[in-house]
Amino acid sequence: MTDVFGVIGHPIKHSLSPVMHNAAFKHLNYDGIYLAFEVRGEELESALNGARALGIRGLNITIPHKERAAEILTSDRAVEEIGACNTADLREWRCYNTDVHGVLMALREAGIDIKGIRVLVVGAGGAGKACIYALRDAGEVFVTNRTAERGREVARRFGVEFIEMEMLATQRFDLIVNATPIGMKGFPDTLPVPEEVVRRSSAVFDMVYNPPETRLVRVGRKYGCRIASGVDMLVHQGAKAFEIFTGLKAPVDVMKRAVVSELEKLA
Ligand code: NAP
Repeated sequence: MTDVFGVIGHPIKHSLSPVMHNAAFKHLNYDGIYLAFEVRGEELESALNGARALGIRGLNITIPHKERAAEILTSDRAVEEIGACNTADLREWRCYNTDVHGVLMALREAGIDIKGIRVLVVGAGGAGKACIYALRDAGEVFVTNRTAERGREVARRFGVEFIEMEMLATQRFDLIVNATPIGMKGFPDTLPVPEEVVRRSSAVFDMVYNPPETRLVRVGRKYGCRIASGVDMLVHQGAKAFEIFTGLKAPVDVMKRAVVSELEKLA
């Protein structure tokens, strides 16, 4: 009778999704379990078919499968435009991108009004694209990326402007979004943009959640910026996935407490 859910990716063992979803099941007395499955790139299609055959109801999808899964499953409009998904409803064989909701909710929780603002998104991977998609109609969005060609291509695709990293120092943005792994555990804790750009900004959003306090967050706070948190994005993308999976309202506070307590253990 137990409903089975999970997350697939490679590597996957550090994923916080099982802790977050299982806490929600427990809180709601829902007979469900959520597991992490390590699936290599070449195994994705057989893993999705096998999971469906086994009656697994839903999967979250993470690196390196977000783009390929969007080709295998039926996409909604956001997934089609972004070219990447992170949530699969296996019974319907449909996929979604709940990172878009995670971005908007993280900004809302930080009290950042996105209407008409000038945003710099650093990073043109899956998370960066979800962020550009979420914000492109609200404000003026700029993207920069380590690999300029990829950044230019993403900018073209979404009809936003690309800026070379070297040109940033002279620019002013209202919000800076880090959609790269810079600052993440195991990566150098440097700033993704020159400090001067942070100083001139009024808000920063670091998608990195482990650790929750990156150098970008500390420097942003020093200059009085509003801070949107990667932890909030993680929790809200998870909450939206939970609702797609179960049809129930997600206990967001319970999910957040589970994530924060796990991050404290990992610190
Ligand atoms: P991805 O698709 O692999 O894209 C990575 C991006 O970061 C690319 O633009 C890449 O640039 C850039 N990059 C990688 N290493 C870099 C470095 N050392 N210096 C400068 N740029 C670098 O990954 P993703 O899924 O977009 O994830 C990006 C970050 O967002 C990760 O830290 C991830 O944990 C975080 N994230 C958080 C949430 C959340 O819920 N809080 C959700 C999704 C992702 P190139 O094009 O030059 O390779």
